[in-house]
Amino acid sequence: MKRERMNNLVRNKDFIASVVPPVERKGPAWWFAFQGNNLLVSEKSSSISIPCFNDFSELGLPVKSQHYLGLLGDRFCYAIEVSENLNPPSGMIFEGLRQVHGRLDEDLFWIAARAIQIVDWDRTHRFCGRCGAPTEAQKAERAKKCSKCGLLHFPRLAPAIIVLIERGDQLLLARARRFPTVMYSVLAGFVEPGESLEETVVREVKEEVGLSLKDIRYFGSQPWPFPHSLMIAFTATYAGGEISLDDNEIEDAGWFTVDNLPPLPGKISIARKLIDWFITKRSIAQRA
Ligand SMILES: [Zn+2]
Repeated sequence: MKRERMNNLVRNKDFIASVVPPVERKGPAWWFAFQGNNLLVSEKSSSISIPCFNDFSELGLPVKSQHYLGLLGDRFCYAIEVSENLNPPSGMIFEGLRQVHGRLDEDLFWIAARAIQIVDWDRTHRFCGRCGAPTEAQKAERAKKCSKCGLLHFPRLAPAIIVLIERGDQLLLARARRFPTVMYSVLAGFVEPGESLEETVVREVKEEVGLSLKDIRYFGSQPWPFPHSLMIAFTATYAGGEISLDDNEIEDAGWFTVDNLPPLPGKISIARKLIDWFITKRSIAQRA
């Protein structure tokens, strides 16, 4: 079961990340172009894809910045930022990342998730946070260096834990106030400076629902580009306490069996992978 937990989270087996662009580029490349947070996609009947051309200039959209991402199979991949207020070329649209998930090829989706974080980092780190001087992109690593004081600025990543809590044939699901729709999910929270991931799991669960845990185990991880999180997922077993809600964060929480589940998060999220893992495990147990 443990090996299975990991394998479905290893994605883009054919993608080789790199910062240094090829000296000579032949053949079409994938262009992951963003206007704000919206990705440029081409539409053909019901399916969508990423523009694939020899050169992005063929599309006639002025480029604000360009970043090499790496190689997918034999095709080079680039992140591009284009100006606001430009209309997409004919047959293409700008769409939010969440909206394209499930319609875009999975490999391309996760490269787009990488691309948006590089573009966002580039546009929010043009000046040094310490002295305010302009920064310069480094050639051999994904970093920007202050032209005056030399401080290095790397892409931001905010690690967050997510945890599925089991109690016999039940799991704990909660409805967070930040959820836009009526939906229940497993608990999640950001890692604070000085904490181990397991300490974050224990603190978040105590704060949000007042429960104690045991058997905290790593499940897998997933980039979450909204805007720059890394979700680190765990499973844990209930060890004591009564549900007591943090009213600022949690609207409702409770124990659910697999035949009595509320509306769940979409397939894109590792939250759903955790819940699906539990459903599979329980249905195997029920059949035995
Ligand atoms: Zn500086």
